[in-house]
Amino acid sequence: MSSTTILQPGEIERPAGDIPYIYLPTRSAVYHDRAARLRTLAQGHSMRDFLLFMAALCETQQDALNNFPAVPLPDASRLNQCREHGMPPLSVQSWPRDPAWQQALTTILARVKQHAPPASQATIARIEKMDSAALEKLADALLRSDYEQVDLATAPLVASALQVYWTHMSTSLGVHAFSRNGVGNLCPACASPPVASVVRIGGEQGLRYLCCSLCETQWHMVRAKCSNCESTKDIGYYSIKGGSVKGSFGGAVKAESCDECGSYLKIVYMDKDPHVDPVADDLATLALDLMMDENGKSRSGPNLFLMTAPEAAI
Ligand SMILES: [Zn+2]
Ligand SMILES: [Zn+2]
Repeated sequence: MSSTTILQPGEIERPAGDIPYIYLPTRSAVYHDRAARLRTLAQGHSMRDFLLFMAALCETQQDALNNFPAVPLPDASRLNQCREHGMPPLSVQSWPRDPAWQQALTTILARVKQHAPPASQATIARIEKMDSAALEKLADALLRSDYEQVDLATAPLVASALQVYWTHMSTSLGVHAFSRNGVGNLCPACASPPVASVVRIGGEQGLRYLCCSLCETQWHMVRAKCSNCESTKDIGYYSIKGGSVKGSFGGAVKAESCDECGSYLKIVYMDKDPHVDPVADDLATLALDLMMDENGKSRSGPNLFLMTAPEAAI
């Protein structure tokens, strides 16, 4: 285990006006790329079967996104109003969710069934028996992070369809639809918490973006600052040395932790590995979550594919 504070806030940041606030991934590749990353990380991994099943799930998400039907989106006046007031226009709490997400779920379940291990077959059967009202209730609980109300085994599958619906909306609207939000640690498109953060390369070289756990929007936050409470004091970076944890080899995945609020969130570095993915690399480094848990730190944002405690998943 190692801990180093690498940067002071703003140390290598460009002036704020030059920094693209929002980054959106390529719609036609986002889930396909995640699936490829999961298959790479699965090689020789102790959780190989789980990661390969998640890869199959991501491929079905890409299919569902490619074929997503037209649904209502916020119009220009609503987007302007949200911009003026710093509100996320696709807020999970207030946006009227279109039932089209349930069609995506049906598509995803039908395709992922072919790859599902026996325990997941039973879970799929349970979801298939739920009526529309029960699915909406489950979606409400998931999006409120009210996990006590959720059959946790069903969560990744139901969440995968909600992700597709929200990613359809965020990528249809595009980067200019969203603006800085009143709450820096929630997604400026949908108000969900981040799954992880990424230090990017290319046009956003060296800049850190928080990655939405739901809609794939990434938003800028300066480095060496807690993504949960925005404190700049006592930020530490933890990793597991030796490459025993897939995905953390070469320092591409670290846990950024804050003594001020007692939380952590993983941070992935594209300069260490250009193929890192906030969701895939997070799933493949659960040993780091266990280590942080032992250090008394709790995660500040969820991975919707992992609603159980890390020790239960390993
Ligand atoms: Zn979002
Ligand atoms: Zn904090």
